[in-house]
Formats: sequence, structure tokens, C-alpha cells
Amino acid sequence: MQLVFASNNKNKIKEIQQILPQSIIILSLEDIGCLEEIPETSNTIEGNAILKANYVTQKYGYDCFADDTGLEVEALNGEPGVYSARYAGEQCDSDNNMIKLLDALSSKTNRKASFKTVIALNKEGEQHLFTGTAPGKITMEKSGHQGFGYDPIFQPEGYQETFAEMDSALKNTISHRAIATKQLIAFLKTEK
Ligand code: IMP
Repeated sequence: MQLVFASNNKNKIKEIQQILPQSIIILSLEDIGCLEEIPETSNTIEGNAILKANYVTQKYGYDCFADDTGLEVEALNGEPGVYSARYAGEQCDSDNNMIKLLDALSSKTNRKASFKTVIALNKEGEQHLFTGTAPGKITMEKSGHQGFGYDPIFQPEGYQETFAEMDSALKNTISHRAIATKQLIAFLKTEK
């Protein structure tokens, strides 16, 4: 069975290929000749995962899955959410995003936040959604150098360290993405 992962992140693709049975071949966007940028114009995380998966299935005819992730902060009514990558503006980087978020929370006592990953899978004419969440809180300042994105200011529930201070193997067992991916894999294993 061939399945496209609507991503060009070689690490993500390799990682998931290693976990899946050999009978499931994962193709990247490059493998199927999809070199254009897929529009991510929805205002929800689910919506963007679905847009990406549907784009590939409709335009290229492949079964496909796509993921989208965001950080939802309770005191900011779920922001930055679907806009997490470009919170501080289109040309921004992780540092600017974190500065903006710490600033927005400077007068708030409620620092609860949750990462959410949604994976949309189109398979044999049906769509399935898998959601993983990692609850936690936004710290007062950055700590740690591992990981990426908002990791230095996100402390997962039940831990005293931020994602950026954590061993990557530990983050990869408790993270939003890991939880959603495990659900996808369990589903694919029963289906094949
Ligand atoms: P994407 O949908 O995986 O591209 O994630 C969107 C944005 O959410 C990224 O650009 C990061 O800013 C943030 N993000 C996603 N996953 C993580 C994570 O595991 N740690 C920290 N930030 C993340």
C-alpha cells in the first residue's frame, strides 16, 4: 500500500516509515512531483490538516495524510492556535513568536496552554481524523535549547522542565504529535 505524507520534512517521513509495517510505503510530496506550496488557509488546525490531505488526494489521486499543529493558550482564547507558526508576523521566527506570547501573557495569572496536532487521513474514499494534545503551561521565561518552536516556554503537565530542557526521546513519547501519530499508526496497522 502506498500512502503520501503531505510533508517535505525528511525526518518526519523517515521516522514514520520506520514505525510502519513494510507493506505500507510512505511517499513524500517530492516523490509524487508535488512541488508547489499547498494552501493552508483554514482558520482551524483541523481545517488545515484536511485542506492539505484533500489537496493531494484530489489533485494527485493518492491516499494521503497531513498534519497540522498549534499552541492553544487558554487566557488568549485559544491563540495563537492555527496561527502559531506566524504569530509575530509572516516573516517571523520562533524567538519573535515566543517574545510576543510572553508579552501577551505578562499580566495574566492563568498560563494554561495545550499543544494540539490533528492528522487527517484520506484512505479508500474515507476521511479519518486523529488528534493528540499535550496540556501544560507557558513559563515566565525561556529555558532549554532542545527542540524547536515554542519548546523553551512550554512546560508539559506533570513535569518540572520545558520541552526544550527535556530529552528528545521523552518529548517524543508525550508530545501532541507523538499521540496523534500513534493513533494513526494503530489505525493503519489494523487496516492493512
Ligand atoms: P506545524 O503545523 O507542525 O508546522 O506547526 C506549526 C507551528 O506550531 C510551528 O511552526 C511551531 O511554531 C509550533 N509547533 C508545532 N509543534 C511544536 C512542538 O512540538 N514544539 C514547539 N512548537 C511547536
